[in-house]
Parts: sequence; structure tokens; C-alpha cells
Amino acid sequence: MVIYASAFANCYGINSIICHATTPPEIDEGAFTGVPKANFSVEVPEQALVAYQTAPGWRDFARIVAHRDFSISRRLCRTLGKAEMKSLDLRAPSGAAWSVESKPDWLTVSPMSGTGRARVRITTTDIPSGAGSRSGEIVFLLDGKDYRATTTVEQYETYKEGEVINVQDHSKGRGIDLVFMGDCYDAKDIYEGKYMEDINQAIEHFFSIEPYKTYKDYFDVNIVVGCSQDSGAGDASVLREARFGTQYTLSEGQTPDIDLCLEYAQKAQVRNLNQTHITIVQNSPDREGTTILYPSGLSISICPVSTGAYPYDFRGVVQHESGGHGFGKLADENIKHNAFIQSCGCLDGCPHIAEIEYYKLFGYYENISLSADMHQVPWSHMIFDPFYSNLVDIYEGAFYHSRGVFRSEKNSCMNNYIPYYSSISRESIVRRIMKYAGEPFSYGEFKSKDNEMNY
Ligand SMILES: [Zn+2]
Ligand SMILES: [Zn+2]
Repeated sequence: MVIYASAFANCYGINSIICHATTPPEIDEGAFTGVPKANFSVEVPEQALVAYQTAPGWRDFARIVAHRDFSISRRLCRTLGKAEMKSLDLRAPSGAAWSVESKPDWLTVSPMSGTGRARVRITTTDIPSGAGSRSGEIVFLLDGKDYRATTTVEQYETYKEGEVINVQDHSKGRGIDLVFMGDCYDAKDIYEGKYMEDINQAIEHFFSIEPYKTYKDYFDVNIVVGCSQDSGAGDASVLREARFGTQYTLSEGQTPDIDLCLEYAQKAQVRNLNQTHITIVQNSPDREGTTILYPSGLSISICPVSTGAYPYDFRGVVQHESGGHGFGKLADENIKHNAFIQSCGCLDGCPHIAEIEYYKLFGYYENISLSADMHQVPWSHMIFDPFYSNLVDIYEGAFYHSRGVFRSEKNSCMNNYIPYYSSISRESIVRRIMKYAGEPFSYGEFKSKDNEMNY
């Protein structure tokens, strides 16, 4: 094995090297040029310690020490203010004794000593009121050796896990539940206000577009607090611990832990889970959201706090995913490829006719049609209504395909994320609001409200 010239040249940021090879690999001239060789330890197998300390290239490093398999699964634990228990895994060589050398007095560690690998439970006590935050180190010592593993525990005086914050109660109808929660926010994000700020912004975006703006009084809006171990979302290469599990994985995409989402939504005392829409605001700058629709009516949208430019900004993501797909049960109208949906054999996993037909069974996807017959499209009545007729028509291209599937207007939030739902989309949303509110839907009333919205 050889470490070639320039392999790590000018890697100024290296602050740890662990080499498991029992024979020191050859180091070419210049392989570690620019690496600060006196600033950190190089860890190598114990039996090869002398070999490394004398090998050309390796001997330039100031500190070469025996690598011991002694580490803790988290080096930073951020927790909320209420007493809480966390389990960590301590890795230690089998048979080797270890003990807790020091710890803050406001938490307990169990067990305090052991042999070999162990699961260690850390239990905090309530933070004294007014303290704000506190932090301390737990130091594990491999007995008889000068070898330590450390985890820092930070505690923040803020909301409780699962706490419900009421934002709005309905003043019309019998109440329609919208539940918002955040994922990939750690205790510090919650303490510093980022959690509430982002979620309140999502709620504002949700209601800043018609028809939600006009029909806002029909909704009950609650925020539920969920604290993640890590701040920020993981992806295919970086694993992070997210309360609701919304990190991107190759096998499951962004799918959250559904059972936990429902358990948390129920903390907000929702009237009927099947008429509840859950929005998970994800602490991630991505612009791709996801929505999961159930035939029952339940829906869950994941909305990253997109840093994309208009119209693919956070507003666009919330209005497209949460208001459009989620509560509105609308379909995508954008075109990805130039193909007839009926014969498209694209292999990139894009959904086709079967999905449209499936969701239409439940009254979803009213904004698209597989028929171009003006008497059969769901917005037929609008084509023949002078109030809408110069806007509403039949446009070919929707649901990712340019041919064989139709939409009703050139532009809509479901097409290109602009702050505007097409007329049939608005009607479909208002029908659902009225149904959940227990009030009859009247097309005339919808139109007169629509008129006030100035379309
Ligand atoms: Zn979409
Ligand atoms: Zn296709």
C-alpha cells in the first residue's frame, strides 16, 4: 500500500488520522505537504506503534499513539429543559474496564463503570427556571490508560417535547385541523427561536394565497414541538438523527416516520385525523418537498425551508406542497418530458395513468384530466361560464408529460410554484373546506367570493 504524492497535500484542516494498517504504508514524497504534523495525534494499531514512529514519512508526525477502540456514539447531546433520558453507545475493547471520570452534577450516568461495550443512559434533571441554558462534559476513562472519550451535554430552557402551541381557532364551520411541526431542528434551534420562526412563516405562506386567505376562519391551526438530535437534514451520505425521520435516503426518499407524525398530530386534539393536514417544516435549504396523500383524506407534506429563488422559494414550496398537494389534493401540472403519457416508458420512476386513475377515485387530482373533451374535463362548467371562460380552457401538457394529459390554465402553483392556484383548483379546495366544515357548497357563493378576490 502506498500513499501517493500530493494525496493529502495542503489539507490544512486535517485534525485526526487513524490508520488501521499493521504495516506502515509507504508515503511518497509530498503526500502530506502542508498538513500541520505537530497539531494532532496519528492513531495506529498498538502492535505497530514503534514501526510507525520510525517509518519514513510517518516519523515526521509529532504524536503517534496507539489507537484504541474507545469512543462514544454522540459527542454532542442537545436536550430540552425538562428531565430527559438519552441512550448512547460506548465502544470499548472487549474485556477492557472503563469508568466515568467526571460529569456535571445535574445529570446521572448509568452505569458509571463497566467492561467492554455498553449502552449508557444519561438522564438530565429539569433545568432551573430562568437558567436559560447550561452545558457540561461527561468524560469516560479507559481504566489504567490515559485514554478518554467525551460527550458534551447541552440543555436548553424552552418548550417541552410534544408541547402544543395554538395559533388559531376556527370562527366558522366546525373546525378543520392544520398541524405544523418542524423536523431536523435540535434543542438549540428551538431555544433560539428558529423552530417557531420557520413554522410561523410557513403558516403565513399557507394563508397568503387564495382561496385559503378568504377561508382562513374555517381552520384550527396548531404547532407541535418535536426536537431532533441533530440540526439540519441528512442525505444519502450524511446520516443525521431527525425526530420525524425526514432525511433523504436512497431507499425511501424523504418518507417520514408516519406513526410518530400521527401521534404528534393527535397531541393537538385534532377532531378527525382523516380530515387533518400535517405540514412538516424541514430545516433544510432544499427546494424539493414531498407530499403523502391517503385515500382517507389525511395528508402529510414535507416542506424544506427552501433558499431557492422565486418562485421556488419557501413560499412556493409551502403553497405547492402543503396547500396544493396536501390539503388541496391537487396533481402536479408541470411537464418534464416530451412524451404521450399513455405510451411513455420513461424509467426514471415518473408516475403515469394508473396513479391518476387511482387518485381520481377519491375525488383528488381535479386540476388535471386524461380527456380533452370539453364536456368531460372536471372544469367543464367553467369553460362555459362567461365569468371564467376567457381564462379557463383545455391545455395539453400536465403531470410530467407534454401529451395526452390536460390542465385548465396556462399557469398555476401546481405547474410553476407561482402564488396562484388555477380556478378549478380553487373550487376544489373550497369544496373540501365546505365538506369538512359541514356546510353545503354553493357554486354561486364560491364565484361571488372569487369575484371579490379579483380574478
Ligand atoms: Zn409537486
Ligand atoms: Zn413518463
